[in-house]
Amino acid sequence: AWAHTARFFTTASQLNQLPAGDLPELAFVGRSNAGKSSSINTLAQRRQLAFASKTPGRTQHINLFAIGPKDAPDAYLADLPGYGYATVERGAKLRWQKVMADYLEVRRNLAGVVLLVDSRHGFTALDERLLDFITPRVSNGEIKLLVLLTKADKLTKREAQASMQAAQNRLASLATDEADIGVLLFSATQRTGLEDLAETLHAWMQA
Ligand code: GDP
Repeated sequence: AWAHTARFFTTASQLNQLPAGDLPELAFVGRSNAGKSSSINTLAQRRQLAFASKTPGRTQHINLFAIGPKDAPDAYLADLPGYGYATVERGAKLRWQKVMADYLEVRRNLAGVVLLVDSRHGFTALDERLLDFITPRVSNGEIKLLVLLTKADKLTKREAQASMQAAQNRLASLATDEADIGVLLFSATQRTGLEDLAETLHAWMQA
């Protein structure tokens, strides 16, 4: 229930516009259409909390939501720009890379990253890029990683197992400490994996 306190806090097009300080930050990243907004909204039990990331002109922004008491939030949830639109021109791709690399590599209070991947497709080339950005900090235990295999309701049991296995294989070498990485089958419509997601994030906030 901690996530139900989530509310819009601020939006930033550059790293230096984000609040400084030590509040743990939980970042949601993923390919456009992977189900990022749906997962954030389901987690927060708010139909339209994450929508700004889809507003034209705002698609390259980082949107922050505050969690906890109004006057003293105890964490931020960061909705990072979705990536991978085939139509996006080169300049925008480069800007995306710079924002993401900067954020993931230097954001000091980043506690963990939730990477949303469509369970039917697995990691795309840009997901791999993103994994490259975060691997150093995951490997040295600085940040955690949770991969959500989204839209799991569209898979048969057997397909779901295969999707899970493939993701686990890919991530196996990434962390020194197994507890720093996780993979979950997730469905916003069926609420599959929702409790595990909430529990994992809550643990990240306490760490
Ligand atoms: P985003 O671009 O990553 O924020 O993705 P959205 O959350 O907007 O979802 C993209 C599309 O996938 C939308 O049409 C959603 O309705 C659909 N979608 C998202 N989550 C699920 C899910 O768990 N199950 C199914 N079947 N569809 C989903």
